[in-house]
Amino acid sequence: MMDWGRLFESVAGAAVGASAGLAYAVRYPGSSLLAPSVHRGATTRKAIALTFDDGPSESTPELLDVLAAFGATATFFVCGANARRLPEIARAVAARGHEIANHTDTHPMLYGKSREFIYQELAQAQNAIESVTGVRPKYFRAPYGVRWFGLRQAQERLDLKGVMWTTIALDWKWPADRVIRRVLGGAKNGAILCLHDGRALTPKPDIRVTLETVRAVLPKLMEQGFHFEKVSEILCPTKS
Ligand SMILES: [Zn+2]
Repeated sequence: MMDWGRLFESVAGAAVGASAGLAYAVRYPGSSLLAPSVHRGATTRKAIALTFDDGPSESTPELLDVLAAFGATATFFVCGANARRLPEIARAVAARGHEIANHTDTHPMLYGKSREFIYQELAQAQNAIESVTGVRPKYFRAPYGVRWFGLRQAQERLDLKGVMWTTIALDWKWPADRVIRRVLGGAKNGAILCLHDGRALTPKPDIRVTLETVRAVLPKLMEQGFHFEKVSEILCPTKS
């Protein structure tokens, strides 16, 4: 029997680069064409989800202290390789009440990769994160926000829900004042904000802009009446 899904994928794959539709499917935070994902939580509460990608890193403990100073909990999209390299820090993230999620094992661009490669990246991260922290993630974010064919099935096999973002902070390339304005501009009910406590697998990343941003925006958002929820909380429409 003809496998129409695979036929579509091979045709679409052949059109890569020429197809604006495929570029949308691969990159656009609101697209679920290649794999189901959410990019905003419940809008019924003045709640924001802070999310941090690419950790744990040597810089993560300072961020944990900043979050604790504001009583804020967040969601950390962790790379399996980083959890293996810094298991104590990975455990500290979980121990301080934050949600741990999957950001692949080695932070590859999934674009153009085989189904098996994609599955293994997600599965190895699940196993590494679980063996280090005791937590088996329920949420996944693709590196660079790039989805590809096979991700849908990998997420299904591993029972992972895709999470993109409402606003991405660009905290790895912009100065703090500009990142702060961008993050404050993205504040709205149910917003999922994406920042970074690492840089892919780079040891000792410089995340001073991220730290400065968090220190600046958390009190401002709280003044505006927002509180902070983990991804699993903000996706729940009925959380009181
Ligand atoms: Zn990343």
